[in-house]
Amino acid sequence: MDLNSVRPPKYVISVMERLTCHGFEAYMVGGCVRDLIIGRRPFDWDVCTSALPEEVMTLFTRSRPTGLKHGTVTVISQGSTVEVTTFRSDGEYKDHRRPESVLFIGDLKGDLERRDFTINALAMPLSGEILDHFGGRQDIEKKLIRCVGEPEKRFEEDALRMLRAFRFSAVLGFEIEHQTLTAIKIKAHLSGGLAKERVRIELEKTLLSDSPQVISDVIGYGLLRGIVANDMPEADLILLKRLPKNRMLRWAGLCALLLRRGIIDDTEKFLTILRLDSATIQGCTRGCALVSAVSPQDAISWKRLLAANGIETAKCAACAADVLYGRGHMELLRSVLLSGDCCSLKALAVSGDELLKLGFSGTELGKTLSLLLDYVIEHPSNNKKELLLAMVTEIK
Ligand code: ATP
Ligand code: MG
Repeated sequence: MDLNSVRPPKYVISVMERLTCHGFEAYMVGGCVRDLIIGRRPFDWDVCTSALPEEVMTLFTRSRPTGLKHGTVTVISQGSTVEVTTFRSDGEYKDHRRPESVLFIGDLKGDLERRDFTINALAMPLSGEILDHFGGRQDIEKKLIRCVGEPEKRFEEDALRMLRAFRFSAVLGFEIEHQTLTAIKIKAHLSGGLAKERVRIELEKTLLSDSPQVISDVIGYGLLRGIVANDMPEADLILLKRLPKNRMLRWAGLCALLLRRGIIDDTEKFLTILRLDSATIQGCTRGCALVSAVSPQDAISWKRLLAANGIETAKCAACAADVLYGRGHMELLRSVLLSGDCCSLKALAVSGDELLKLGFSGTELGKTLSLLLDYVIEHPSNNKKELLLAMVTEIK
């Protein structure tokens, strides 16, 4: 364990100092403590405190009540934000997702008890000592994801935790502990009621991890039931590792593999159900369709694809091709992009306005521009205004 490689930032320390100076308890808590122990840079820093939300807001003039119902106040400290949450325990859960009510409590242990996994139920005060009531440190050492308390009950309370378990397993390279995994098998059906956006967020974090093949377990355990049809072999999904850690590109690769196995039959529908943004849906759908049967093999074919579909879709197509047919497509596309060769009307040395002046109009103008683009794609060094205008005058 390497507690020294990553340090809590000053803006977090100063929030904790202010709280403790006023007699409140304050701890870094959850994922950031886990990541400090592992030596990873935390994604965000959460603080929990004995101060009530109103007290937090009085102490920090620059703060916003972002989740008052759950006791969370976002404090702006030295230009950054820290979520400060009052110690709380959760009441009855509704819809297998959110507690009906929360109760502010006076002690840290109760707050740690409501957290999902032992590795996320750790707290650290300013002294740097680690407070661990549920064996989280040992589980970090053993690389295990284990529920705090009784797994079946915890998943019944909040079904999203099952997707989080796989997400942490993929991101951290940890195993899911046996009893926790068995409980997922039993409670998987509850995931059907989750907001699809939440499912997508967890799936996307899994997809962007070093082990995107964990998605095969997410599917295999039935956590995407109703969204995808069958099981997906892990060996297929390992191919996603070769793609850049870019959300649109990894979604494109995933869709290409699911389509090939017949696990989805409509990319657009699949991504729409998961509430992806329209740019990603478009890029992936078109990109996958372009290479579903065969992929461009040479630079000129990639240039044509680029000219007709734009950069984002071409990148999706190249990533889909890389996972379907083997490496090399993304590299080829990259070299085309780096060459600076003309692959779009925008980069063509002759513009529509110039053709208008020469007497072209309507579809004739459009057709002539495409002909020129096609010509330049094959003869990149001839993308010169005089040369192209001379050609055009000849056609006219
Ligand atoms: P990340 O690295 O993505 O930030 P994290 O572990 O910090 O992961 P967050 O979603 O930031 O996760 O939540 C912060 C902490 O809140 C978690 O570490 C955990 O203690 C608790 N938590 C979050 N979501 C849940 C949940 N669904 N059930 C129980 N505890 C949760
Ligand atoms: Mg976090």
